[in-house]
Amino acid sequence: MNRSEDLSDVFELGCPACGQADHLQILITTLARITTEGSDPEGEHEWDDGSYCRCPECGRDGIVADFRQKNSHAEKTALASSDSEVHS
Ligand SMILES: [Zn+2]
Repeated sequence: MNRSEDLSDVFELGCPACGQADHLQILITTLARITTEGSDPEGEHEWDDGSYCRCPECGRDGIVADFRQKNSHAEKTALASSDSEVHS
């Protein structure tokens, strides 16, 4: 496998302006341990579709949802109607 995954494969994210999906900057929320010596990020961080997102290549910014790619393979499969009975 020579093909490396990009953000569109993993997160279905990509820049809507320039199209690159190698790297994006996202504003995360995380906990930090605060002591007299300063603060250190600690534990999990999180982000969601409403988090601030920016393309480092072209400067396009917005929220993560703006960078969400509409992949065609997510097409809805119509529910089979074979179970429903038709009264004539
Ligand atoms: Zn871009």
